[in-house]
Amino acid sequence: MTFSELNLIEPLLQALQEEGYTSPTPIQEQAIPPVLNGDDLLGCAQTGTGKTAAFSLPLLHRLHEAGPAHPAKAIRALILTPTRELALQIGDSIQAYGRHTKIRHTVIFGGVGQVPQVEQIKRGVDILVATPGRLLDLMNQGLVSLKHIETFILDEADRMLDMGFIHDVRKVIAQIPAHRQTLLFSATMPQEIQKLANSILRDPVYVEVTPVSSTAEKIGQKVFFVEKTYKRALLKHLLKETGIKRALVFSRTKHGADRIAKELSKAGIAAQSIHGDKAQSTRVKALSQFKNYELQALVATDIAARGIDVDDLTHVINVDLPNEPETYVHRIGRTGRAGADGLALSFCDDTELPYLRDIEKLTKQTIPVEEEQPFHAEYQKLPLGGGKATDKLARSGGGNQPRGPRGGGQGGRPEQRGAGQGHNRRPDQRQGSSQGGGGNRRSSGGNRGPKR
Ligand code: AMP
Repeated sequence: MTFSELNLIEPLLQALQEEGYTSPTPIQEQAIPPVLNGDDLLGCAQTGTGKTAAFSLPLLHRLHEAGPAHPAKAIRALILTPTRELALQIGDSIQAYGRHTKIRHTVIFGGVGQVPQVEQIKRGVDILVATPGRLLDLMNQGLVSLKHIETFILDEADRMLDMGFIHDVRKVIAQIPAHRQTLLFSATMPQEIQKLANSILRDPVYVEVTPVSSTAEKIGQKVFFVEKTYKRALLKHLLKETGIKRALVFSRTKHGADRIAKELSKAGIAAQSIHGDKAQSTRVKALSQFKNYELQALVATDIAARGIDVDDLTHVINVDLPNEPETYVHRIGRTGRAGADGLALSFCDDTELPYLRDIEKLTKQTIPVEEEQPFHAEYQKLPLGGGKATDKLARSGGGNQPRGPRGGGQGGRPEQRGAGQGHNRRPDQRQGSSQGGGGNRRSSGGNRGPKR
């Protein structure tokens, strides 16, 4: 797939060539056609997937095609993003992609004087990139009007929520005309964001991408071979002896998460578990304690962890290895954000060796084995050639596991299924709906957000 196959206008194609982009990323491939078509979009994607271009390119295309603003100098598109850094990055991208068009934009954020920002707006901009606080401030002073917004883009919605901006976001949205195109991007889809999406999107196309191997590349990884019986002891050892200030700990099951948290607490390590059986208020409280460094360990199941976005998280510890290798990449992607150092430590017992092999195959990386630990078990990694591990309990036959517990099984993995690991999933089955056929096809099926 090339950018010209996405039917983008020549000035954009030229800029992309100058930027050295040869082909669209998966999110661009999926999002550009429906956005060009005028559809609403719900995008589950992290930074690093190319999402900025995924919304900026079709936006610039549509504004260019529509010609000059009516009335002159009206703001036609609003991009709301949680931080100044993101706002500036988006501004830079729009500048780069739109350099051969006449589309004008500006970026506004708090913490600096408002005068130059207001002057820019007065001169007339087509696209306004803003953080919510400063925007509301200028709106309240009557210096910005959103009356003519045709396209509204909410970026990093889950971070808006985490940073406590969601109320401001809603206030801004209330001032945008209802008849508009809306795009919402979020790395995770906690319930609150799903609710917001339901209330502001009309029959959206849903796109989801996960930066599978690229995430793993930035993060230090180690695997600890350890018998199942000693996993909790090893965890205590790491948390007590190695100076880890804060770790997100993953457990495959809710029961396991509870047991781990309890045992850590008994050992004097501040820990809480979060999973689907816990009340929302309990989860929120645990998460905020974790963020404030009041907890050293937050023990989570995969589903519960989806809403967690802690910026400076340094350690992820997998007490169990997930049987889906993509889940591993999702888990460790919680750390090492925004250039911070990240370390992912994974415990692997003999039954999990096939999962380890699948992970190494997917990420195309060898995860070094940490032998300098008190509970080291002498396992051998499985050869990479083997087929993918199934859901069934892995067999320990074949002479690869000199010692370690046998049998017992790990039981079902209640939280594993349906954890939304599918790539580029479109539950709405509207694949290609944007290309053929004129106009905005909006069926009456109501909201088409992600199933949860
Ligand atoms: P984003 O996820 O929007 O923050 O983009 C991540 C990085 O990927 C940015 O540095 C972009 O400039 C770059 N990028 C976005 N799309 C492409 C593409 N199609 N080809 C090459 N690089 C890209």
